[in-house]
Amino acid sequence: KLFNEVQELKGNIRVYCRVRPFLPGQDKKSTTIDYMGENGELLISNPYKQGKDGHRMFKFNKVFNPFASQAEVFSDIQPLIRSVLDGFNVCIFAYGQTGSGKTYTMSGPSTSKQDWGVNYRALNDLFDISLSRRNAYSYEVGVQMVEIYNEQVRDLLSNDIAQETLGIWSTSQPNGLVVPDASLHPVKSTSDVLDLMEIGQANRAVGSTALNERSSRSHSILTVHVRGLDLKNGSTSRGCLHLIDLAGSERVEKSEVTGDRLKEAQYINKSLSALGDVIFALAQKSAHVPYRNSKLTQVLQSSLGGQAKTLMFVQINPDVESYSETISTLKFAERVS
Ligand code: ADP
Ligand code: MG
Repeated sequence: KLFNEVQELKGNIRVYCRVRPFLPGQDKKSTTIDYMGENGELLISNPYKQGKDGHRMFKFNKVFNPFASQAEVFSDIQPLIRSVLDGFNVCIFAYGQTGSGKTYTMSGPSTSKQDWGVNYRALNDLFDISLSRRNAYSYEVGVQMVEIYNEQVRDLLSNDIAQETLGIWSTSQPNGLVVPDASLHPVKSTSDVLDLMEIGQANRAVGSTALNERSSRSHSILTVHVRGLDLKNGSTSRGCLHLIDLAGSERVEKSEVTGDRLKEAQYINKSLSALGDVIFALAQKSAHVPYRNSKLTQVLQSSLGGQAKTLMFVQINPDVESYSETISTLKFAERVS
């Protein structure tokens, strides 16, 4: 069964769409969402156009409606987590405009168990599965947490948080793993991970006046390294899981911003399009994959393509005001799926 699951996911790029619920105080009647199908269909209506031209259909591997629970969203990606223990590399992204639920999906609104996002659930599963296999395998798990802001990679778990720029490490491992040159922390349980992530979140705020502002304009990457030892024959495997909360994808009009804000917007734009180009090239099975165009794609290089598996959560807002951002998000997703 496991073999089938892994085969099925092999080389696959999956795209799941998650629609955020209306927030308290928002007018529920003014929505752009016409229909969410069981097979991943999403029908969007254009509030500025009537008739049949006023609708657009998108298709994903799956669409989660606003009432989908955190557990429901996660249950679908468990096979991916298991494959990390079998030595595969996996990337899970959340893409969307600021306020569309990326952090909700990846981390959750609180650290209480039913609120846990993909991050905690994934780690929790890794530990559960490794425990259930303890008679046959022994696993070591380590985590790194970095932020990419204005094309600079910063270690969020280092004691020396003033250190702004990091290099990107290429190792000579058989799987050619490329990772940021950031501190690696051994973890033994989900609570170890919760503690580290709290430190990482706190460090994200350093050097910025408003935490939310900065976190929406940087990519945060939690990388989980798993080393497995087969107790029977002594062979080892290495798998790597990247959990990525991307910077907000909203387009910023050049005329509206200047200086630092414009520079930030350009960096975000550049790295998100570089990511789109890489995934598009992989989906097309193109001979040339342009990994080198951004820090984000360089860091993730060994976990995108080849045997690696990619899952993108495309987050959208349900309201009419977000219509043009929603369409631009969905077009990005359509191109890579
Ligand atoms: P982003 O990280 O994309 O900027 P957030 O995850 O911070 O967006 O979400 C914005 C707001 O919407 C937060 O208040 C969050 O709690 C709420 N929210 C997002 N997704 C959901 C959801 N599926 N269910 C309930 N509330 C949500
Ligand atoms: Mg966020």
